[in-house]
Amino acid sequence: MLSAHKTKIIATIGPSSNSKEVLRKLIRSGMSIARINFAHGCFEEHAKVVERIRSIAERLERRVAILGDLPGVKIRIGKLEKEPIILNRGRRVVLTTRDIEGNDTEIPVEFKDFPKIVSKGDVIHLNDGYIKLKVEDVKNGDVICRVLVGGKLFSRKGINVPKAELPLEALTERDFEILEFMIELGFDAVGVSFVGSAYDIIKVKRFVQKRSEMFVIAKIERVDAVKNFDEILSSSDGIMIARGDLGVEIPIEKLPIIQKKLIRKANYEGKPAITATQMLESMTTDKMPTRAEVTDVANAILDGSDAVMLSEETAVGKYPVDAVRMMAKIARTTETYLKPTLDVEEIRKGGTIKDAISVGIIEALRIVNVKFIVTPTKTGRTPRLISRFRPKQWILAFSDNERTCGGLMFSYGVQPFLLEEGFDETNIMKLLKDLGLLKSGDTIMITESRPAEVGTNTIRILRVD
Ligand code: PEP
Repeated sequence: MLSAHKTKIIATIGPSSNSKEVLRKLIRSGMSIARINFAHGCFEEHAKVVERIRSIAERLERRVAILGDLPGVKIRIGKLEKEPIILNRGRRVVLTTRDIEGNDTEIPVEFKDFPKIVSKGDVIHLNDGYIKLKVEDVKNGDVICRVLVGGKLFSRKGINVPKAELPLEALTERDFEILEFMIELGFDAVGVSFVGSAYDIIKVKRFVQKRSEMFVIAKIERVDAVKNFDEILSSSDGIMIARGDLGVEIPIEKLPIIQKKLIRKANYEGKPAITATQMLESMTTDKMPTRAEVTDVANAILDGSDAVMLSEETAVGKYPVDAVRMMAKIARTTETYLKPTLDVEEIRKGGTIKDAISVGIIEALRIVNVKFIVTPTKTGRTPRLISRFRPKQWILAFSDNERTCGGLMFSYGVQPFLLEEGFDETNIMKLLKDLGLLKSGDTIMITESRPAEVGTNTIRILRVD
């Protein structure tokens, strides 16, 4: 029921992990969120995988949230005849908008306006910057390049041109079709790619709000998103440091500090922060990660990440289950050393009643030891604000709203429960006893709204009888 680690683990589902057997093992090993990347695959396949995850999770009595990741304005290469192709340094290669299957001299690009956004002298990055090309000429829909840094290239890998102006709209027509599909299938959360400003998030929220309360996560992967971070954070429900694209769009050596700064701001606001990409990259092909990767996962947790994400490791890697197990082990060990990134004093300056409740809980925990922090919640705000102080106890959050429960899956140390019949104290106690989580004599801290409609304003410490 409650996992051994409180950091949430997101695993991207793909050909290596979409079978019943592997999904079952991923859930048992500690995956709390399954990520469906809509840059690949078709609706029919994704619908089957979502159904499979839900039925396995139900059988295992585990809650697993589903996160759908929108492709956004990401420019990608098209299909290659044979893969991988090898691009050698110094060779001439043409990126073309013609409808062809690619090889090591001509590579198709799916974005028809690509030749308009690049010019002679630009450096083009393929596959998150592992391959670099220099533009020598642009003519008749073809971009003629020289390979600066060579390497292996697979179909549908991403293209970044850090200097070029991306089209203003982060969201494409295709993204809205995907959102429609996610709403129909009741996805818990959406990751919005290439967000440039709060406006991109507001557009998604407006589209979604009419029919769903899906959690909206802003992927920070552009320079503009870093510049406009405060407004993006305040309009979104959570953030993802999407280090793959961000590490190409900004000088890579700035990544660690940006990661720390953005996570800290998200912690302060009580909004979940996800650290993503290449966390255990070598496990795509090897059974063991490198020392540096293990340290990266641990440091991301110490930075204040609520969730850590696996991409290729679980989607196309050879050892998807080992990767989740490894992340779970690192999380469990690191959490014993975890200190909050926030200082109570910072909250005191301009806090709300809910801030006061969260600080009150943390102060009271210094004096009284309790088994759980129990939070009935409509919006999820109270458990999230408590979570930012990283208490040692699990925060058990009860809501009558399935989407609130889904969103809470992204917060460190919060386990949501759906209580449709009313989330009052009697029902909560009964459920916790039925689940074997509480027994007579245990002490808990419980928050409450008195009267019911005003929002959380009370903390009580109870002995269970
Ligand atoms: C990233 O760029 O790090 C990321 C998570 O996005 P995607 O996997 O869509 O490239």
